[in-house]
Amino acid sequence: MLFSRPSDTALYDALLNRDPNWDGQMFVGVTSTGIFCRLSCPARKPKPENCRFHETAAECLSAGFRPCKRCKPLEHGMEPLVADLSARLNAEPGRRWREDDLTALGLDPSTVRRAFKRQLGVTFLELARLRRLQEGFTALGGGERVIDAQLTANYDSASGFRSAVSKLLGLAPGAFRDDALLRCAPISTPLGPMIAIADDHALHLLEFMDRKALPTELKRLSERTPGGLGFGQTKPHASIVRELDAYFAGALSAFETPVTLSGAPFAQSVWRALQDIPMGQTRSYSQIAEHMGRPSAVRAVARANGANQLALIIPCHRVIGADGSLTGYGGGLHRKRALLDLEQRAS
Ligand SMILES: [Zn+2]
Repeated sequence: MLFSRPSDTALYDALLNRDPNWDGQMFVGVTSTGIFCRLSCPARKPKPENCRFHETAAECLSAGFRPCKRCKPLEHGMEPLVADLSARLNAEPGRRWREDDLTALGLDPSTVRRAFKRQLGVTFLELARLRRLQEGFTALGGGERVIDAQLTANYDSASGFRSAVSKLLGLAPGAFRDDALLRCAPISTPLGPMIAIADDHALHLLEFMDRKALPTELKRLSERTPGGLGFGQTKPHASIVRELDAYFAGALSAFETPVTLSGAPFAQSVWRALQDIPMGQTRSYSQIAEHMGRPSAVRAVARANGANQLALIIPCHRVIGADGSLTGYGGGLHRKRALLDLEQRAS
């Protein structure tokens, strides 16, 4: 970004004044509605505590906000190419797009990629994937209880729905079962939608929904679990929802929801070592390896860190580069930064 970011108060004033000068440079995600807007949106203005300001549309999308239908933040003020494809996406958000579809429209995929990257901070295909995930999440999240009701009362539509969501998550249409032991449920957080998978006793997976490795993790989990995967909530879900609320409010020092660690013994010992990093602090891979008494196992530590599928609970986001750089994070660097900031303030 070429400008230094103004304070949230200044941005909120711009929002109240419907200031068009920020169009394309700043967006506001509204937590009470799950929608994001241009600051100049003509719609009624949200309360300041429900506003999350972001510099790119991509950040809003990956934080789980959907574009506003009134101010059309993905279309307004964009190059015609970007505006046109965004409009197509808004008309059909569940569509699975491929490069061939762009070619079929007479467009050059690499021109499209560059234009979207420049204007929205995200490629068109990534944007399409995010929109598809959000549609699925909205359907799931809007009706956790509705789904349970659907499962018992109206099996046909529930199975259609299950197969749609399976595809959305990159699984085979029959991956979700009615009688499964492991249950999936979405959880919304200030950093975007997460998915939690648990049986009656423990949580097996907690991930941000847009994590690229999620389909692979879900597939592994469903293959390993004889009872398969299904929808719905169990006791550990209720517990982790409560704990996440407290965590994001800066009022939780340790997660206590029971978890199942599934991985090789070495990976498990890395995950336990990660849980020893106090909130508000960070470590490098080599520090973790030393802490475990295995100073030469830095790469194996890094691999185990990346294989963690209990985001936040196993705090792999507290591992940074030896030079203090953030390095990677499966849930996206903007989230890693936000989590570390939050923990710094809370501790
Ligand atoms: Zn709007």
